[in-house]
Amino acid sequence: MKTAREPELRAAPHIEAIPPTIPFIGPEELMREGGHGSLLRLGANESNFGPSPSAVAAMAAELPRVCRYGDPESYDLREALAARAGCEIENICVGAGIDDLMGLAVRAFVGPGTLALATRGTYPTFAYHVTGYGGGLSTVDYRANGSIAVEALIERACALHPAIVYLANPDNPSGTFVSRPHVEALLEAMPSQSLLLLDEAYAEFAPQDVLPAGIDPRLVRMRTFSKAYGMAGARIGYAISTRRTIETFQKIRLQYGVNRNAQIGALAALQDDGYMQGVVAEVARGRDEYVRLADSLGHKSIASHTNFVCIDFGSAARAEGVVRTLMQRGVFIRKPGMPPLDGYIRVTVGTPPERVAFATHLRAVSAA
Ligand SMILES: *Cc1c(COP(=O)(O)O)cnc(C)c1O
Repeated sequence: MKTAREPELRAAPHIEAIPPTIPFIGPEELMREGGHGSLLRLGANESNFGPSPSAVAAMAAELPRVCRYGDPESYDLREALAARAGCEIENICVGAGIDDLMGLAVRAFVGPGTLALATRGTYPTFAYHVTGYGGGLSTVDYRANGSIAVEALIERACALHPAIVYLANPDNPSGTFVSRPHVEALLEAMPSQSLLLLDEAYAEFAPQDVLPAGIDPRLVRMRTFSKAYGMAGARIGYAISTRRTIETFQKIRLQYGVNRNAQIGALAALQDDGYMQGVVAEVARGRDEYVRLADSLGHKSIASHTNFVCIDFGSAARAEGVVRTLMQRGVFIRKPGMPPLDGYIRVTVGTPPERVAFATHLRAVSAA
């Protein structure tokens, strides 16, 4: 039996040292809090277009076999991914999304007391892992226009020799994109012991001819089926790097960490390129609509290479007010937390009817 005098159970010291971090508050939690029965869900950059119907059919057909583990090597999927990327299957590691794979990279390369480098206010899971594995994080700011300050990253990397330099490209939450020559310049200028972790969650939405390609000993690229492929809930993504780095990830990943249905769905999704290209084209139309909507209300927006757009409301207080008021109307969006982007709201491109509904809500909120 418990008694009041019983000493509190302590976690390992490096875990006790982790400050309580503010996690993503999920839309389900926001629904419970606000008493909403449904939400217009434009806050998590999910694809409201859904996955390819052939991916759904493949997963549905295999569902009775969910009693089995998936192939721990994800062989068929890695083979298909390698063929696309023009590399060997030994250059590919499949994981439960980029969030999972980033954990492997940080665990492998950022030991306790080791430094990593990122942009302040960028996608937070990288920093979350660095903290969780006992590393330290140094950050540089975005440029005032929301683009990534590549020169500042270079300068800081050369000063601090971080184990990993993290670059989300295209970036979330800004939506901005660093083209290949600048990524190559960053890689070239970085200290030889630093690894560049390119988080390419939105790669499919970016201009393909200026995306970095190929295998470099100091480069890890990560991609996902969560965004353009519309399979966020399946939890599946992959890393591309040298055989040596991939071998390191294979050593420490969970043997059965990838959902069997996700493997099946991802393979089918990959074989239905037309569907994904259709989503990418529709998302481009939706981005243009959001830009015009922002224009019509007198707000600037940031040119985006993703499935979302940031719209400027001038101050953090105003942007927070817009997010809050939209939530009261059952519209879920988010906003960047850090300057210089904290005066913006971030809206995911939804389906055409969702965009019409969003425009109506935003006009009403802006007028108030
Ligand atoms: C959505 C997102 C992720 C998460 O990807 P998963 O594969 O779902 O874990 C990672 N990085 C960025 C920049 C994202 O926006």
